[in-house]
Amino acid sequence: MTAVTEKVNLLGLTREQLVEFFASIGEKKFRADQVMKWIHHFGVDDFTAMTNVSKALQEKLAACAEVRGPEIVSEDISSDGTRKWVIRVASGSCVETVYIPQGTRGTLCVSSQAGCALDCSFCSTGKQGFNSDLTSAEIIGQVWIASKSFGSIPASSERAITNVVMMGMGEPLLNFDNVVNAMTLMLDDFGYGISKRKVTLSTAGVAPMIDKLSEHIDVSLALSLHAPNDALRNTLVPVNKKYPLQVVLDACKRYIAKLGEKRYLTIEYTLLKDVNDLPEHAEQLVELLKDVPCKVNLIPFNPFPHSGYERPSNNAIRRFQDTLHHGGYSVTVRMPRGEDIDAACGQLVGQVQDRTRRSARYIAVREIEN
Ligand code: SAH
Repeated sequence: MTAVTEKVNLLGLTREQLVEFFASIGEKKFRADQVMKWIHHFGVDDFTAMTNVSKALQEKLAACAEVRGPEIVSEDISSDGTRKWVIRVASGSCVETVYIPQGTRGTLCVSSQAGCALDCSFCSTGKQGFNSDLTSAEIIGQVWIASKSFGSIPASSERAITNVVMMGMGEPLLNFDNVVNAMTLMLDDFGYGISKRKVTLSTAGVAPMIDKLSEHIDVSLALSLHAPNDALRNTLVPVNKKYPLQVVLDACKRYIAKLGEKRYLTIEYTLLKDVNDLPEHAEQLVELLKDVPCKVNLIPFNPFPHSGYERPSNNAIRRFQDTLHHGGYSVTVRMPRGEDIDAACGQLVGQVQDRTRRSARYIAVREIEN
C-alpha cells in the first residue's frame, strides 16, 4: 500500500505561513496574497475559479493543496435573526457557531475546542468534558462559512461580520497556537480585516497563557469572572484553584497595560440566582475591580436541563447592575439571544464524541499549568 500524502489545507494558514508554503513549492510571495483573497474575501475553495492564477499553477496547487472548510451539519435562523451553525470537525465531534445581529453590528461567536476541560459548574459545554482541539482551519472555517452565507465581502463596508468573540465552545487559551493563527487571519486585511478591538478572546482565567497571548497578538480580552472572591469562584470556575483571582487579574492588567491605548478588559459575570447575585457580591465586586480598567458584562444564567441553577429575577439583575453602576463601572446586561434555537451562552453543547478522553485532557491541562 502506498502512503497517501495529505494535502495542505490552505484555509487555516496565516499570510506568513502561506508565503512559506508558496516558497516551498517554488512560487513567488505575491501568490499568497492572491490566493488568500480568493479564499477569505470571495469564499472560493476551487483553484480553477481563481482566475488570476495561471492554469499551470492551479493544477500544481490542486495536486498538493486544498481549501477545506469544516462540514456544516445544520444551519438555523432564530426569530430574532440570530443564526446558529452546527459544524462537524475532524475528530467527529460537532461544535457550534452563532451569529448575533444587533443594529449595524454583527457578532460571530466562534468555538475553539470540541467540549471543554475546565468544567465550570454552570456551563453545559463543560458538562460534556473535553474531546478535541479545533485546527486553525476549523476555527477560521467558522468565520469563512458564516461570511459565505451572507455573501458579503469581508473587509468591505458592507461586511456582515463586524465583530468576533471567541466565546463559543472551549477554552481558547488551551488551544493556543491554532486560536492565535485563526485570530491573525481575522485581523489580516487579506483575511477578514476586522479591527483588533473587535476581536475578543474570552478566557476562564488560564493566567500564564494571558501573558503569552500578549507576546503574539493584541486583540481585546474578556475574563469570565463569575464570582467576587476565591472561595466562591473555586466552586464555579475550578481553574481558579490553580490561578486564584489576584493572579489572574494581575495577568489581565498586564495584558491591558501592554495594549498601550485606551483599552478595557471585559469582565463577564453570569448571574446565578442566590449563588453569586446577592448585594454583598456586587459590593465585593466593586472593591475587587477598583484598579482594573474594565467594563462589566452581566449574563443572566441561561438554563439547561439538570443544571441545578436558576436565572435571577429581573429585579435582582437590576439591583446588581445598579450597585456596580454606583461603584463607577460601565455595566451592560447581555440579553439572551437565539434561545429558540439553543444558541444562547452556555447552551452550546455541540455533540462531543468519546467522553472517556476527558481524563486525558485533565492531565494535559495540568501539564500546561505546571
Ligand atoms: N472558556 C471561555 C470561553 C467561553 S465564553 C471562557 O470561559 O471565557 C462563554 C461565556 O458564557 C463564559 O463567560 C461562560 O462562563 C458563560 N456561560 C457558560 N454557561 C453559561 C450559562 N448557562 N448561562 C450564562 N452564561 C454562561
